[in-house]
Amino acid sequence: MLLDLDGTLMDHDRAADAGLRAWLPSLGLEATDAEVARWIALQEPHLAAWRAGRISFAEQRRRRLRDFLGTDGSDAELDAVFAGYLAHYERGWRIYDDVADALAVIAEAGLRTAVLTNGARTQQLRKLAAIGLGHLDPVFTVDDLGVAKPHPDAFRRACSRWGLAPGEVLSVGDNHELDVLGARAAGLRAVHLDRLGGSTETARVASLTELKDHLR
Ligand SMILES: [Mg+2]
Repeated sequence: MLLDLDGTLMDHDRAADAGLRAWLPSLGLEATDAEVARWIALQEPHLAAWRAGRISFAEQRRRRLRDFLGTDGSDAELDAVFAGYLAHYERGWRIYDDVADALAVIAEAGLRTAVLTNGARTQQLRKLAAIGLGHLDPVFTVDDLGVAKPHPDAFRRACSRWGLAPGEVLSVGDNHELDVLGARAAGLRAVHLDRLGGSTETARVASLTELKDHLR
């Protein structure tokens, strides 16, 4: 089973929101919903440029920060400011309550697990270790595969490196486009983890606990 990380194993949104609200005052900004929304809106364009290989992971952080603050600074200055956010964000890293039981059920069913994430390798390995999932292996990231979800090659390459045919692998993740549609385009089976509700996907679960109904 190929598991997504952020939003699937770890509550990224909550950690990012809490981290941001704790960090903004240190910049002289109020921790308002509007500022949080502004930060989140600035995130994706720069992350997309990194995933496409156009800029480094550190550079996407600097660009996000420049846009957000409306100021410039040296790389070192911006990195130092971003480190403040990271410290708060990392303090909020928590595993979802349903992960441990789900992994036990998956293991009992004789299935293996791997992680496929659109994050950067170094940060995602730290994240997994911090939430007690440092044993999950292999972990495939954009850095390893050179391509990001939902591109089918991300799934094909992960399966190839794992030594499994796509048809043998089930993809599970919280993002329907990335984790489900991308996976199916590569020939994997896929289940949408719909933690918040509202998905119209047929193959969906509301929590990882329900995955037991999709193991075969
Ligand atoms: Mg996710």
